[in-house]
Amino acid sequence: MGSAPQGETDPKTGLTAAEATSRLASEGPNELAHAPPPSALALFAGQFRGMLVWLLIAACVVSAALDEVIDAVAIGVILLMNAIVGFLQESRAETALAALKAMSAPRARVLRDGRAIDIAAREVVRGDVLVLEAGDLVAADATLVEANAVTVNEALLTGESLPVEKTAGGTKADAPLAEQTGRVFMGTAIGTGSARAVVDAIGMQTELGKVAKLLESATDQQTPLEVRLERVGRTLVGLCLGIVVVVAALGFFRGEPPLTILMSAVSLAVAAVPEGLATIVTIALAVGVQRMASRRVLVRKLPSVETLGSVTVICTDKTGTLTTGVMALRAIASSDEKRILDAATACCDADLEGGTGDPTELAIERAAAERGIRLPDIERDRPRTLVRPFDTTLKRMSILRADGTLYVKGALESLLPLCTVIPDGIAVKSDALAADGLRVLAVAVGKGEAEKDLELLGVVGLADPPRKEAIAAVAAARAAGVRTVMITGDHPTTAAAIAREMGIVVAGDGTQVVHARATPEDKLRIVRAWKEKGDVVAMTGDGVNDAPALREADIGIAMGKTGTEVTRQAADMILTDDNFASIVAAIREGRGILDNIQKALVYLLTGNTAELFVMLFASLAGLPLPLTALQLLWINLVTDGLPALTLVMEPTGDDVLERAPRGRKDPILGRGEWTPIVLVGLLHTAITLGAFWYALHEGRGVEAARAMAFSTLVFGELWYVFGARSTTRTFWQLGAFGNTRLLAIVAISAGLQFGLNFLPFTHEIFDVGPVSLADVGECALLGLIPVTVVELVKLVRGRLKRT
Ligand code: ATP
Repeated sequence: MGSAPQGETDPKTGLTAAEATSRLASEGPNELAHAPPPSALALFAGQFRGMLVWLLIAACVVSAALDEVIDAVAIGVILLMNAIVGFLQESRAETALAALKAMSAPRARVLRDGRAIDIAAREVVRGDVLVLEAGDLVAADATLVEANAVTVNEALLTGESLPVEKTAGGTKADAPLAEQTGRVFMGTAIGTGSARAVVDAIGMQTELGKVAKLLESATDQQTPLEVRLERVGRTLVGLCLGIVVVVAALGFFRGEPPLTILMSAVSLAVAAVPEGLATIVTIALAVGVQRMASRRVLVRKLPSVETLGSVTVICTDKTGTLTTGVMALRAIASSDEKRILDAATACCDADLEGGTGDPTELAIERAAAERGIRLPDIERDRPRTLVRPFDTTLKRMSILRADGTLYVKGALESLLPLCTVIPDGIAVKSDALAADGLRVLAVAVGKGEAEKDLELLGVVGLADPPRKEAIAAVAAARAAGVRTVMITGDHPTTAAAIAREMGIVVAGDGTQVVHARATPEDKLRIVRAWKEKGDVVAMTGDGVNDAPALREADIGIAMGKTGTEVTRQAADMILTDDNFASIVAAIREGRGILDNIQKALVYLLTGNTAELFVMLFASLAGLPLPLTALQLLWINLVTDGLPALTLVMEPTGDDVLERAPRGRKDPILGRGEWTPIVLVGLLHTAITLGAFWYALHEGRGVEAARAMAFSTLVFGELWYVFGARSTTRTFWQLGAFGNTRLLAIVAISAGLQFGLNFLPFTHEIFDVGPVSLADVGECALLGLIPVTVVELVKLVRGRLKRT
């Protein structure tokens, strides 16, 4: 560990790319060992879990024991198909999530071939020179070769929450961790300053590696929604078992053979158990994560997709999120423009040529360069001797240079108390600039190290125009019942001017929606205050000190471009374009996904209810059972499962942002959902039993009657999926081709259903009696009844609402 390979690396240029590549190959990636992801086999085996599967296996074994070979094989095949479908879905979801995780994985800045480049932290090798600044997470253990006012938070390793000062050189190799002031450690956060350090240990050899041992991968953690649904599922299973017992008892008293009773009990259980609930949620969330990625939002934690749908307040930074963050110097209030520009530039750190660094400083340097004042010249003629980096709480920074001058810039009220020479009327001029929405920076100079007895040179005004799409997004959010709260370090006058331009100042209820001169501690306080009011809060952040507020928020959002690594890793989501509009787009997708989950659940449960009622009512009425176990299995797999899956892929409707947010505690299935489940379930039951009874009445025999009931229920459920796409809009209003996958699945399923009635082989397996093409056609027509009723109800409701 302590044997820093500095000798091998030139701290000025770092490793060559070739050397780094070969070291990565020979020494392996810079990663903590974690539990391997489940193998394909394990994933497949995992499909054979759950009560339904056990029931089926039991049924399969019983059938085989009783020489019912066809039944046994058929159940086996269906079990297998069920597992394959589940496996494919789950592995697709896993792949998508893994790709996203890689995108939000930690990154590091290293010197390679003399240039600072960003790489994935796992590609850091021993001998790499880390380029560190405030807000970075240290990617590996390293020895400092250069350090400017560096403090590091090492709480992760030492438990010490106060920042530790670090300097280059002077560490004894075997000193206790806390005394190794010349080294920085993997996973710790740079709080202030900047540094360069040569990596001497990676991965499991790091101090963190030694304590971490094994990092559990957090992918298979259940989301709150999944947990809640599992509970719903268990209740339903209990209910169904009760009914199964009733039906079995009835059969027993009627003197039916035990095998028939057993098979019908199994069938009922199959009919009623909503097996797909949790799978549907996982897949829907995975779809959501992918959709959000295309909206430039990386989701780091799966449950955020759910939470997004309930967000009521977005607390957002101004600079770079609501505004473009591309600044331009617009005004100078000073008696000596050249002097103030020189002093302001001398207090800058950004790399104008490379275009990297603080946008405020880039704007100053750009304006100065146009007048022939260049930072590289200043660095050459008056090298810096001391740097106090910009501090968001103090709102100023200073640089001492070789000429003995201290250059200071920052907020006017932060500088005024330090100045002894102050130009007349500067406060008024500064206010006038701020009222135009300009960001105002005061510039002062002094002699010597201390920030006192300064001479204020004047102020400069920088324009940072609002993003056009953010203005539209603020309005869209308001229509959706989501408040936008602007939090900025800027002057209240500047903040107010920008807020007005963005359409943020509305609150008639006196709620504060603009916080100016805010510090990171204020952010934490603001999040807490909104949460206490019962709001669901999304909060953006970029600086190191924003991490606590991001963690406290229901949804912490980090900036992908300007954000620090610390905030990225503390966040639930990352905005890859730093754009406020993307947050609103993500909320829209989040709501759409919740809607889709709900639609799929309603659809699935309607089917289960129908199957259950059909079996229950028939047995109460003393009729033979209208559906066999195998038929029920087929219905669950083909006509319920597959269409429900395509329902979660429904495109998000435009109307999701026109209504209030969903309450966080609102059940996913409330009375508004259970009513249609039961009513539509009854409609399906009516047509199915109708067809069954009619065929029996015509004297066509139980098997033919069963075939009629089977097809009627299948078509009824298949057609109904078109009505399940929306609770308010009809199929035509939605556009018939909005979800082509759904059309394809329905077409295929309907084709299969027609086919199995006439193919000799399936005919036998499914026990369907002799029916004609016209019979099945009639079933298909009969099946139109539920969806037609549902669509008519929507039409009438829509009309009533409009009048
Ligand atoms: P947010 O990004 O949260 O909307 P902000 O970027 O507008 O906030 P800060 O960066 O904290 O806020 O800036 C607050 C004030 O500090 C500015 O109004 C300006 O006066 C001063 N300031 C900003 N950047 C610098 C800098 N690089 N050097 C000196 N002073 C600065």
